[in-house]
Amino acid sequence: MRIDLHTHSTASDGTDSPSQVIAQAVTAGLDVVALTDHDTTDGWAEATAAAREQGIALVLGSEVTATAAGVSVHVLSYLQDPTSAPLADAMRATKTARVTRARTMVDRLSEDYDLTWEDVVAQTAIGATVGRPHIADALVAKGIVTDRSAAFTAMLLPSSRYYVRHHAPTALEVIELVLTAGGVPVLAHPGAEQRGRVIDDAAIEELTVAGLVGLEVHHRDNPPAQVERLTALAARLGLLVTGASDYHGAGKPNVLGENLTDPTTLARIEGRAAAAVVRA
Ligand code: AMP
Ligand code: ZN
Ligand code: FE
Ligand code: FE
Repeated sequence: MRIDLHTHSTASDGTDSPSQVIAQAVTAGLDVVALTDHDTTDGWAEATAAAREQGIALVLGSEVTATAAGVSVHVLSYLQDPTSAPLADAMRATKTARVTRARTMVDRLSEDYDLTWEDVVAQTAIGATVGRPHIADALVAKGIVTDRSAAFTAMLLPSSRYYVRHHAPTALEVIELVLTAGGVPVLAHPGAEQRGRVIDDAAIEELTVAGLVGLEVHHRDNPPAQVERLTALAARLGLLVTGASDYHGAGKPNVLGENLTDPTTLARIEGRAAAAVVRA
């Protein structure tokens, strides 16, 4: 069983439509794929239809933006009820805050580069959750950088003068919202050091007390020392261990199935959730 529990479509900052993500997952030989767009469930309907048609199991979810101790963290929510208002409202608020933030980043960038907000809009699907990858795509389209990775390294990381934060609920709040929606919260790439500061063991322990269920240990952005740390921490705290690609289509080098989650873990996630996995 090949299970990949973290991907993005054009409903956020991936470059494949939800049905293209499903088609790519089939091509990659996956048995199960999760669609986890940033702060939205907008891709769910299209992905569900495509998964039924193409004969692959689908885990519906979202990657919810949060903050913890001043650090931006991502909480994966699996199999929540998308009509649960508290989580849906919080994600909508974050989506709105992301637009203002992206515009401010573009304002700052436009002082040094030939870049306008229209350039970013041109790279963003209608209704999509806007993120730094869309700004990166606009910089690529303008010939200012060669690819998304170069854009991040040169001007989009938190250490850059162009970087702007946006409001998001705390990770504790997000976990509560996800649980209220019947979802299963898993901390995404908790050891992604090159993206900025990561939260420490005590903070993860606090989230576990609040109901965190798992850690995304096997992810390309967690370096070996972090995988070791997180594996031990998950064992100590009784947290599930997941693995996933964080596929974004052509926008990032991440390949579907490059990290996997074992079937027992998926069964535990589904067992705690309000909704079931979509099976063809
Ligand atoms: P944002 O949501 O605006 O904070 O941007 C976060 C998104 O940027 C995530 O989806 C990441 O996958 C993506 N990202 C972070 N670092 C990089 C990088 N170095 N290269 C390409 N994409 C990145
Ligand atoms: Zn993303
Ligand atoms: Fe993430
Ligand atoms: Fe992601």
